[in-house]
Amino acid sequence: MLILGGGINGCGTFRDLCAQGVDCLLIERDDFCSGASAGSSRLMHGGLKYLETGEFRLVRESAEERDRLLCNAAHYVTPLPSILPLRSRFGGILPSIRRFLGGKASLTDRGSLITRAGLTLYDLYGRRVSALPGHKMLSRRALDARVAGLDAGVIGAGLYYEGQLSYAERLGLELLLDGETMHPASRALNHACVVGAQSGVVTYAHEGATHRVRPRVIINAGGAWIDRINADLGLETDLMGGSKGAHIVVENPALFAALNGHMVYFGTRDGRVNLLYPFMDRVLIGSTDIKIDDPDAAQCDEDEAAYLCAVIAEIFPEIPVGEDQILYRFSGVRPLPRADGEIGLVTRDHSIAELTLPEGPQVLCLIGGKWTTFRKFSETAATEVLTRLGRARQRATETMPIGGGRDFPMGADARAVWIAERSHSSGLPAGRIDTLLSRYGTRVDTMLPALSRSDTPLLALPDYSREELMHLLRTERVGGLSDLLLRRTSIALSGRLTPEVAQEAARIVAETLGWNADTTREALDRLPVSRAA
Ligand SMILES: Cc1cc2nc3c(=O)[nH]c(=O)nc-3n(C[C@H](O)[C@H](O)[C@H](O)COP(=O)(O)OP(=O)(O)OC[C@H]3O[C@@H](n4cnc5c(N)ncnc54)[C@H](O)[C@@H]3O)c2cc1C
Repeated sequence: MLILGGGINGCGTFRDLCAQGVDCLLIERDDFCSGASAGSSRLMHGGLKYLETGEFRLVRESAEERDRLLCNAAHYVTPLPSILPLRSRFGGILPSIRRFLGGKASLTDRGSLITRAGLTLYDLYGRRVSALPGHKMLSRRALDARVAGLDAGVIGAGLYYEGQLSYAERLGLELLLDGETMHPASRALNHACVVGAQSGVVTYAHEGATHRVRPRVIINAGGAWIDRINADLGLETDLMGGSKGAHIVVENPALFAALNGHMVYFGTRDGRVNLLYPFMDRVLIGSTDIKIDDPDAAQCDEDEAAYLCAVIAEIFPEIPVGEDQILYRFSGVRPLPRADGEIGLVTRDHSIAELTLPEGPQVLCLIGGKWTTFRKFSETAATEVLTRLGRARQRATETMPIGGGRDFPMGADARAVWIAERSHSSGLPAGRIDTLLSRYGTRVDTMLPALSRSDTPLLALPDYSREELMHLLRTERVGGLSDLLLRRTSIALSGRLTPEVAQEAARIVAETLGWNADTTREALDRLPVSRAA
């Protein structure tokens, strides 16, 4: 089995096939989860807005998968109380009907009736796994007690729950490491690329050498790059039509305090839906939805960043958000199927396109999907492969824990006991173990032997240590400085990648991986550093 693309759908399919004992090679041209899977809003959500487009199957599947992730990846997926502000009682009914019937209609206001109906249906779809409380309708007074400073035109809100994914990129990596542990004959490579394919043999390059494989089936999990990967294999396709979405992470203590731990998911005057929620002591604001042809050209442009700052005034008019507060910005391209019409209405559901290489194996292209539904999509893809290999499924993945979510201490008491035990055996302070548990889940056990010998705080970022970074460098397939600072850790995403942090981390990387001065300087030049904190 050859899997091309190491985003969340490639990682999930790799793990599922490894669990069935199938030999897999995964090739990712950049780092794992560096495409759309790093550019998402990081919500494990049921997809409330898909009710309006009548995609009930997708909503049910998303709600179930969200709830499973709250159990299987409890180290990274946590409940997020969410607010849907209301500006009227009857607003949104006609536009909702129009959208439901496939028409175009902007929804600046979802009134209380339509919201109550939508959230009731949403609860029903989440009932099967049921890891979250049901919704409540809040009066303006009850809303003010939770979230302060909302626009005076808001008359109340729907309160419901989604999942928040803290370390998305790490979760993808953990799926790969779990897969390799379950089936050591399989291997996932980053910074590798396909050179070409002929007579069923695929040639790829990795670490300066070329290799050949003859896969029985190929999975193209290249997201927005699916057509380009097909071209590398010698197939001409026109399957994908991407949409770019950008986010910003801002330092705004007033907004952070006003949110009080809630996401606000609100309709804007231009008929879009935006969101903001507290994220790693900052506020995450997103997102745009812009048709794009070249996924390699996607970045959060100045005008998108300005739009995301300005739109907050519609919902929190008294809390100014300025571009000078932006600590980090990121974007990704939603791998949507090619379709005509309004980009916001293109389905977010997943599908598989089957192709065949001349004189070669079948190529299954994984189109669309959401982060939330990766397990189900991966299961479907793996089942397609098993059918072609004439093999039966051996293990289900519905209740399979992921990485540091295995044996994760649930609840405050269990967490305190877990931390006290590790603190005692390693000699590290309980507060430090607590931080590490939040970052790595129970995988922290593999790191503690090294840290108990010495745990030297970074000068520029003392809550990370030199030995912690060295452990990641040695065990987590870090190929470059940005892999470490953007994806194995949340240093960049949390807006703490200052020039000083970058320099200090670069010295550790150079020492551990044996880089020379030129390589180190080039890696530093490519980093998206934050403004000085
Ligand atoms: C702005 C935005 C917000 C979103 N918000 C959410 C959300 O809140 N919740 C949710 O559930 N979903 C969300 N999504 C959707 C979700 O992020 C994507 O559907 C999902 O990450 C797609 O994963 P993927 O593996 O298919 O694609 P990708 O993550 O893009 O992976 C494709 C991989 O293929 C690699 N690749 C490209 N060319 C080659 C090659 N030649 N050889 C090898 N590898 C190659 C790329 O480097 C990339 O890593 C959002 C998406 C965006 C863009």
